[in-house]
Amino acid sequence: MNKENEVLEILKGIIDPDLGRDIVSLGFVKQVRVDDAGQVSFVIELTTPACPVKEQFKRTAEALVGQLPWAKKVSVTMSAQTRASRPLGAVGAGLKQVATIIAVSSCKGGVGKSTVAVNLAYALQTLGAKVGIFDADVYGPSLPTMVSPQATQVFQGADGLINPLEFEGVKLMSFGFVSGDGGPAIMRGPMVTQVINQLLTTTAWGALDYLVLDLPPGTGDIQLTLTQLVPIAAAVIVTTPQQLSFVDVVKGIQMFDQLKVPVVGVVENMSYFECGKCHEKHHLFGQGARKKLVEQFGIQNSFEIPILPEISRLSDAGTPVVLAGGASAQHYTAIAGSVVREVSKIQHGGLARPTVAFVDGRGIVVTTGDGAEHVITAADLRRACRCAVCVEEFSGKPLLAPETVAENICPQTIQPMGNYAVAIAWSDGHTSSIYPYDAILKLAAD
Ligand code: ADP
Repeated sequence: MNKENEVLEILKGIIDPDLGRDIVSLGFVKQVRVDDAGQVSFVIELTTPACPVKEQFKRTAEALVGQLPWAKKVSVTMSAQTRASRPLGAVGAGLKQVATIIAVSSCKGGVGKSTVAVNLAYALQTLGAKVGIFDADVYGPSLPTMVSPQATQVFQGADGLINPLEFEGVKLMSFGFVSGDGGPAIMRGPMVTQVINQLLTTTAWGALDYLVLDLPPGTGDIQLTLTQLVPIAAAVIVTTPQQLSFVDVVKGIQMFDQLKVPVVGVVENMSYFECGKCHEKHHLFGQGARKKLVEQFGIQNSFEIPILPEISRLSDAGTPVVLAGGASAQHYTAIAGSVVREVSKIQHGGLARPTVAFVDGRGIVVTTGDGAEHVITAADLRRACRCAVCVEEFSGKPLLAPETVAENICPQTIQPMGNYAVAIAWSDGHTSSIYPYDAILKLAAD
C-alpha cells in the first residue's frame, strides 16, 4: 500500500457522528500528499464551515495519522463545501449564491422569535459561516431595533438588486429598512406577500452559507406563500412554556409538514427565571411542554432559554446578545450547533426515517434503515396512544380504557409527521394519534 493510501486507511477510523459514516467514504478527505521527508498534508472538506465538531475532527485526524511510523509531520487544512454547490439561483437573482435557508417561526407575536432568529444568525457566524438575516415581518419589523448597522439607507445597484445592510459581518434586510413611515398598515395580505417576496429575492445577498428567515408570526397565507417561494432547508419553531402555547407548536409542525420542511428544533423561550440570589430555576409558566414534545412528536432537539434581562436590554440597544459573549450567548450557540448538524444530516442523507405500514395478518410493521422489521399489533399501538384525548395532558393519567379497543382495529391512514413521528387515523374514528418512531420501536418486538 502506498503512503497516501495508508493515510486514507487510517482516517477511515473517523466517523462523522451525524452522517454515521467514515470521513473517507463520505469523500471529505482531499489532496492527500506525502513527501520524502515523511511530511503529510491533506484537506478535510466538511459539509458546512459552521460544523461544531470541526476542531475535534482536526485533532483526531492529526493524532491518527501521527501514529503512522513514518509520519514526521502532519498538517490538516479544514475547509467546507463551496456555497455554489447548492445554488438557489432559479428562485431569484439575489439568492444565486445562497446555500441554505433556515426559517424561524412562531404562532404568536412577542414570544422572542426575532430574538432567536437574530442570535441564531450571529451564532452561526461565530461557528465560521457567512450569514444573512431576512426579517419578513412587514407589520412589525424588529430587525432595525435589534442591530445597529452604520449605514441605514439601502441602495439599488446597477444590476437592479438591492444591497443589504451589514452589521458585524452579517447581511441584513428588513421591510423596516426600505419602507417610509406608515407603509405596512395600509397594505393588504396579497400585496404584503408580493412586497416580501420581491424584497427577499432581489436583495443582493452574495455568497452565504445560511440565510435566516425571520417569518412573521402565525401560520397563515403570508407564511405559506413565502415558504413555498424559496426552498427552505429546515425550520426552527419558537414558543413560550404556557400550556396553551403547546397547541401553537403543533400548528407550526403541521404547517411545515404540509410544506415538507423538516422542523429541526423547538425553542421554549422565557422558559424559567433563575434567581440571582438563590440560583434556583423558577418555572413561572409551568413545566412539561418539552417532555410532551419528545413523547408525542419525538422532537429531539428542544431548547430552553431562560428569561434573561440582558437579552432584552442588549436587544433593545441594538446588540445581539451573542456578540456580547458570556453565558447568555451559549443558549444560542447550542441551538446553532444543533441546527447545523441537523441540516447537514438532511442535506447529506444521514436522516433515514423508518417506514411504518399496516400488513394484514401481521400488524404494524416498522422497517428501520438497516432493513430490520419490528412488529406490533394494531390494537396494542392504538392503546399506546398518548394524545390529549387518550392521556390527560400534563398529569399523564390514562383516559382510554384499553378494553374498549377492539382487537381487529386497523389504521386507515399512516403519515409521517415532522421528522421523527407518524400520525395514524384509526378505524374506530380516532384521528389524533401521533407516535414518535422511537416510541413505536420500543413497543414493537423484533
Ligand atoms: P417576537 O419576534 O416573537 O415578536 P421578540 O424577539 O421581538 O419577539 O421579543 C419580544 C421582546 O422580548 C423583546 O423585547 C426581546 O428583547 C424580549 N426577549 C426575548 N427573549 C427574551 C429572553 N429570553 N429574556 C428576556 N427578554 C427576552
